[in-house]
Amino acid sequence: MATIKQIDGRTIHQIQSGQVIVDLCSVVKELVENSIDAGANNIDVRFKNQGLDLIEVQDNGGGIAPANYESVALKHHTSKLSTYADIGSLDTFGFRGEALASLCALSTMTVTTCLPEDAPKATKLSFEPSGKLKGTNVVAAQKGTTVSVEKLFHNLPVRRKELERNIKREWNKVIALLNQYACIQTNLKFSVSQQPTKGKRIVLFSTKGNATTKDNIINIFGAKTMTGLVPLDLTLEMQPSSVSSVLQPTVDTGSVSTQVRIVGHVSRPAQGEGRQTPDRQMFFINGRPCGLPQFAKTFNEVYKSYNSTQSPFIMADIQLDTHMYDVNVSPDKRTILLHEQNQLLDSLRSALNDLFDSQDYSVPTSQL
Ligand code: ADP
Ligand code: MG
Repeated sequence: MATIKQIDGRTIHQIQSGQVIVDLCSVVKELVENSIDAGANNIDVRFKNQGLDLIEVQDNGGGIAPANYESVALKHHTSKLSTYADIGSLDTFGFRGEALASLCALSTMTVTTCLPEDAPKATKLSFEPSGKLKGTNVVAAQKGTTVSVEKLFHNLPVRRKELERNIKREWNKVIALLNQYACIQTNLKFSVSQQPTKGKRIVLFSTKGNATTKDNIINIFGAKTMTGLVPLDLTLEMQPSSVSSVLQPTVDTGSVSTQVRIVGHVSRPAQGEGRQTPDRQMFFINGRPCGLPQFAKTFNEVYKSYNSTQSPFIMADIQLDTHMYDVNVSPDKRTILLHEQNQLLDSLRSALNDLFDSQDYSVPTSQL
């Protein structure tokens, strides 16, 4: 009979890390979200060999104080959450303190950081696979933080091979995700560049900061895309009796907002797009990019009843009270549990019908 014994800490850390950082997209998502949480208004995302050699995210946020160097990449160490009750009202993307720890276990990660008052004297930190600080070096850099990730999945050979084999698909997912952050963040100057193994670095897209989502769409998808869109600004009334907290079911619901707003842009019924591609249908919850298949389905179904041959471009930010959803469902935070989703979808369906009913179906002559 085999004996039951405890797995050693290092192995546990590696197993769990693989659930937080599941693919190339998770690396990019975690690093960009950390930069936004740090209050950056300028984020530069750089890849080498589509991320197989390097993923680097540089920001001009608040930086990391020297007192936190030892704990920054330790598991379950975060500056964003201290008790479970805080999850319900969080306004940061991160809260688990797992991303940097996981990256240490699955790649070679360095962090270069500089507090505003110390610029241009920055510190470059390197780490053990456990997340323990290995060493520090003084280097020159502007205020903010740069996280560099090399040799992703080097110690998970099967996953590394899969990543290399599916790099084209993974890369498309990464770009689609970056498009989403760049599109929704109006106060953020965003730049994404890639350097092939041989050849020069190419800027793939950039936004200007201090912009509107309309400006961002023009910068990312082109002016032609924008001309086919109408503004989306729907207010959905939720039945007060059904609005209660996901996290604290006994909470007094009187203070919880009963309105949900959906803001963004959608294709005019007469000016849809050729085929339905996920990267041109973007959904957010309070500015958090997320896959919402049921919302996408509702949009597409309603749109089809006005234009049976094309699909819509969609950028829709669902703005609701933080007590109406739960992001703490999966380790990679991609699944979001929406309270009263069915009621929301029903109201969305009728609001979209009203919107499209009020649209002029003819294409403006200036665009023919
Ligand atoms: P979480 O985001 O859940 O807190 P992470 O592992 O992603 O966990 O980050 C750990 C901590 O490191 C954060 O709480 C934050 O204090 C700090 N940190 C990470 N990235 C940055 C950054 N770009 N700028 C400033 N601080 C950062
Ligand atoms: Mg984080």
